[in-house]
Amino acid sequence: MVDKVLVFDPAVTDEQIQAWQHHLKLTNGRSTTRRLGPNPVLVVPAAPQGTAVSDQLPVPLREIALTGEIRLSDRSLRPEGTIVRIGPAIIGDGAVNVFAGPCAVETWEQLIATATAVAQCGVIGLRGGAFKPRTSPYSFQGLQWAGLDLLAKARERTGLPVLTEVVEPDHVGRVAATADALQIGARNMQNFSLLTAAGKSGKPVVLKRGFGATIDETLGAAEYLLNQGNDQVIICERGIRTFENATRFTLDLSAVAVFKQRSHLPVMVDPSHAAGIPALIEPLSLAAAAVGADALLIDVHVRPEQALCDGKQAMLPRDFATLMGKLEVLAMGAGRKMGSVPQPDVEELMAQNPV
Ligand code: PEP
Ligand code: MN
Repeated sequence: MVDKVLVFDPAVTDEQIQAWQHHLKLTNGRSTTRRLGPNPVLVVPAAPQGTAVSDQLPVPLREIALTGEIRLSDRSLRPEGTIVRIGPAIIGDGAVNVFAGPCAVETWEQLIATATAVAQCGVIGLRGGAFKPRTSPYSFQGLQWAGLDLLAKARERTGLPVLTEVVEPDHVGRVAATADALQIGARNMQNFSLLTAAGKSGKPVVLKRGFGATIDETLGAAEYLLNQGNDQVIICERGIRTFENATRFTLDLSAVAVFKQRSHLPVMVDPSHAAGIPALIEPLSLAAAAVGADALLIDVHVRPEQALCDGKQAMLPRDFATLMGKLEVLAMGAGRKMGSVPQPDVEELMAQNPV
């Protein structure tokens, strides 16, 4: 006999859930409440005589038999998939969405030139690290709060929502006040206090898979975000460590298909950090879109040779523009479209910030 999960419509009130729990106590014993974003959820213990229904109570949207512990990310709880909204961008509606920008925010000139270039190519969001979790303490650690201010200024100019990494639980409130979405980096995937704080922030979160983490461990980490009532979560595949050293990491594209099957959360792919080689970004991006990724995260830099972080993997804006054109053709062929956000006035942008 298996426990059950009841998923309710967002309109169902706390009082109605309590009434359900009271009703279930008679047949099934003590049930546990959870939330999948706006949807109330009840985990109901198995009962030999089955669950008594009551026409006084709201009918669940769906009833799922549990085989193990509840996973709020499980596709069975929301088979239609989750839509994540990042500023004006919509991710998870079947479109192919691209976030791009520098690995790290370095200077205003570097940021606005790159942001302008990627905005012209039709991206839906700007990436850029203000806080950088570096392997060496001697490497550039990011402009930190000053970098965040520059990202806010770039959003003002380009209209692009901003995705940036948060590295400490204590920073979450302040980063969330500026960023449109929080990134949890691969190195922090199992930083549970950071995940809990990010979940509580109410901001959309891009959770990067740890390079030594299994698919199941990644979904376990996502559960820390979802368990805070935050269903605005995107899982990002960014390459795992294998014996192969021709690339920086091995992009696990089968994980994209597995995440899509197992979970209702949108999936993003970061080919830049996976491959570490600009010439591989185009084929890997096209493959990621073909395997069903909802979004891509791509490092672009106007002067990669001057970059303070990951310049070796950054694409030049002109190569990125070519990639965007190819992605559009591929998306159309697959019956998908490219995601878009309201376009800034390109001529005005160019006049303000010639690349
Ligand atoms: C990044 O996207 O800037 C980054 C540091 O990536 P990852 O956490 O995947 O290494
Ligand atoms: Mn990087």
